[in-house]
Formats: sequence, C-alpha cells, structure tokens
Amino acid sequence: MILDYHIHPNFSIDAQGTIEEYAAQAVKLGMAEICFTPHFEIDSVRKEKDDKINFYGKIVPMRSEWIDYYFKEIEQARKKLPDLQIRSGIEVGYDPAIETEIKLFIKQFPFDFILGAIHCINHIAITDHKELDEFKTNYLEKGHTQVAKEYFEILNLAIKTGLFHSIAHFDVYKKYGLEIFGEKIIAASEPFLDSTLDLTAKQNIGLEINTSGLRRNPKEIYPAPLILLKAKQAGVKIFTIGSDAHRIKDLGSGLKQGFALAQKLGLDIYRFEQGRPIALK
Ligand SMILES: [Zn+2]
Ligand SMILES: [Zn+2]
Repeated sequence: MILDYHIHPNFSIDAQGTIEEYAAQAVKLGMAEICFTPHFEIDSVRKEKDDKINFYGKIVPMRSEWIDYYFKEIEQARKKLPDLQIRSGIEVGYDPAIETEIKLFIKQFPFDFILGAIHCINHIAITDHKELDEFKTNYLEKGHTQVAKEYFEILNLAIKTGLFHSIAHFDVYKKYGLEIFGEKIIAASEPFLDSTLDLTAKQNIGLEINTSGLRRNPKEIYPAPLILLKAKQAGVKIFTIGSDAHRIKDLGSGLKQGFALAQKLGLDIYRFEQGRPIALK
C-alpha cells in the first residue's frame, strides 16, 4: 500500500496544485491514502516572510479563514474520490517562542496528523534557498557544530511538547549546511543523536521518512539511513512517509525507495486517523 503523508497544496505560498488535483493524481498513481500538510509558520520575528497563505489568489495570515476552506476542500475531494483516503494534516514550523500559539491553533481543528518541523534556527530559515546567504553570514564563523547544536536544541524542545505526531525531515539542517560547511556538517549531529532519539522514543513520537532529499541535494532520504537505524534501536516505533511535494509532479516521488528502505531496516510505517496512529499491515 503506497501512501504519501507530506503534501503541500496551493494554500502554501511556495506550492502549486489544488487539493482536488493532488487527489486525482494520487488515484492515477494507484495510491490508497494521502495526507495534506500545508505549512503553518507563525514566528512573529519572521512575520513578513512566513505569515502568508494563498487564499484563492489573495494573501492572508496563517491564522485566518483559509483553514475552514482547507477542511471544506478535503471534504469535497473525499466525496468525489471515495476510494482514496484523504487525511487532513498540517506541517507546523516549531519555535519555542510560539509554542502556546501553536498549541492553541492545533487544538481548534480536527487534524488527522500533525507534522512538526524545524525550518529555522535563531529565526533564520535553514531550509530555504532564498535565505542561504543570511544563513551563511550568520553561521559560517560560528561553525558547523553550532548549527547542529542549535538545531537539535530546538528539535528537542519540539519533541518535548508532545504536540506532534511525527518529526519531519529529522536531519534537514544538512540541506544547505552541506553547501556552507561541506561533509563535516553530517558528523556534526553525532553528539546529539542518541539523546534526541531516546527522547523521541520516550515521547512515542514518529519519525518521518522524507523523500524530498532524493530530488535535489543531499540526494538521499531524510533522515540518513544510519539515523533511521539508530532510531529503531533507540525504540522509536512510529515511522511516517512523505514526498514533501510542492508540485503535482512530485506527488509520491521517491516513495518506492522510502518503503524499500523502511522494509530493509525493519521499520513500521504508520498512518493517522484523527491523531490515532495505525500501523500499515
Ligand atoms: Zn518542512
Ligand atoms: Zn513540507
């Protein structure tokens, strides 16, 4: 059973393709289930950059009426394509400064699945090419170890909140970190891995197998296979999988490799219904 649990419909300003278009494509690809995960980013320091939703051509703030239409569109797509399971999720960009606001928001809506993500350290995007120069200016001197240290500090806080069902692209700090620091950025995670994975297991939170890295640098799945293996050894039981598609053409891309890797490492893939994890048979 192929399923994709990380999809950005065009409510996200960096994405193209409507919910119905993605759903039709999923049927075409023979998928059984998909879960949409539009971005939710409300860091007030980054208000000008992030707090934007494309609401049918109009830019509105993250906390506004679009969300009702998001659920409405999912409902309509479910009616139109009854053989496809369509889940409503969200990808929340975490920062400790906005924890209370995140909690208030996600408790208000009946999300099936909440993906937690660290997209910024010290309010600078580490996953966006547009901010590569700023990332570089701020961290080249501080060094690769500092990048990993700050990334894992925020990640640990995110895991501790218990607000998220799964952690998106666990080692994404290396995405542009590789460009700035080269290969040494990979080993920079080593001092932090064990404690973060232990915490993930203790909190019974999932880890995402994110195949977007296959489409560009680092040309591998997030997180690296060794981290997935360590996660299993640490006792992490829940693994989710997603393409992180921002375009229709990327829906499901790399998932075959993702499922093959999960099988090779003996990881169980889960889906979510109203926040309840269910292992794939
Ligand atoms: Zn993300
Ligand atoms: Zn995403």
